[in-house]
Amino acid sequence: MEPSATNKKSWLIKDKRPIIIAGPCSVETREQVLETSRRLKASGKIDIIRGGIWKPRTRPGTFEGIGTMGLPWMQEVKETTGLPVTVEVAKAAHVERCLEFGIDILWIGARTTVNPFAVQEIADALKGVDIPVLVKNPINPDVALWKGAVERLQNVGVKEIGAIHRGFSNLAEKYYRNRPQWQLAIQFKNEMPEIPMLCDPSHICGRRDTLQEVSQKALDLDFDGLMVESHIDPDNAWSDAKQQITPEVLHRMLLDLVLREDHEENAPIQSRLEVLRQDINLIDDDVFSLLASRMEVAREIGQYKKENNITILQQKRWNDILIKGKSFAQKNGLSEPFMIKYLQSIHDESINQQEKVMNKE
Ligand code: PEP
Ligand code: MN
Repeated sequence: MEPSATNKKSWLIKDKRPIIIAGPCSVETREQVLETSRRLKASGKIDIIRGGIWKPRTRPGTFEGIGTMGLPWMQEVKETTGLPVTVEVAKAAHVERCLEFGIDILWIGARTTVNPFAVQEIADALKGVDIPVLVKNPINPDVALWKGAVERLQNVGVKEIGAIHRGFSNLAEKYYRNRPQWQLAIQFKNEMPEIPMLCDPSHICGRRDTLQEVSQKALDLDFDGLMVESHIDPDNAWSDAKQQITPEVLHRMLLDLVLREDHEENAPIQSRLEVLRQDINLIDDDVFSLLASRMEVAREIGQYKKENNITILQQKRWNDILIKGKSFAQKNGLSEPFMIKYLQSIHDESINQQEKVMNKE
């Protein structure tokens, strides 16, 4: 990946694009964060170091962040690497501590963006303060709520604001940790074009092997940068172990990313047809990942059937699926033969997948 100059007027994007933010999910120890950032700096591709100090964890009893004690370490990171540092804030007290310790950029996490009271409290603490803030999308797929958080910051005079797309929670999702729903990030980009948009592939993927494809997708969609979690010993990280990568693996991934032309100046590419094709591509991506989720469930069913000695093909179940599909087709302008062919093909693949599970020793 060769960084390209950009003519976009933006506080975040000056002479290099994409902007890369990297660092551990959580700041754990002084040594861990200093060594991680030393190696990130050595890669030569990282622009800003991230570190979680207060961690909004889903369940209590897990590591909830090192707290204020970690802020002087972030200061040291800044001094030793010469790179700006960014920390997540979820309330006014976090903002105050970060300002005291010279943190350069703040970010608001997905669990905070959902709550207008919390965002307003942060905004109020930022009145008259000149510090950039990045706003992650809320956990739920609600673009208005995401924009609302940005507007709350704008209303108190915060000038340098960016957005981070980290995917949206969905209980049925299996392939991603957080379903990307790219069209929502694109909608945000269209409605707030002055706000730079980064992608956080780490929280979208929740695993290492898909980080590259999601990062590439973000660049193909003309995102302005990436925020990636990186740890010197990912398997033993105190939070988000499955999705973190070493600074060296991140370096390799960044080298392999392809930066395509910025299409902004290229009128024909912005044609209606291209926009529609782009929509189709995004929907196809969603359909593919839904299919992967469906097959994952099929394999679970296979496992259950194996343990309980149940036959693979159950005629009544298949008839129910057909009836539902035909009725959907009729209501939505799809032909019945197409729907039958489609369901048959999916069902065949499901059976193959189940068979594999059931016949495995
Ligand atoms: C994080 O960046 O470590 C984090 C908690 O992310 P999110 O707010 O996207 O869940
Ligand atoms: Mn994390």
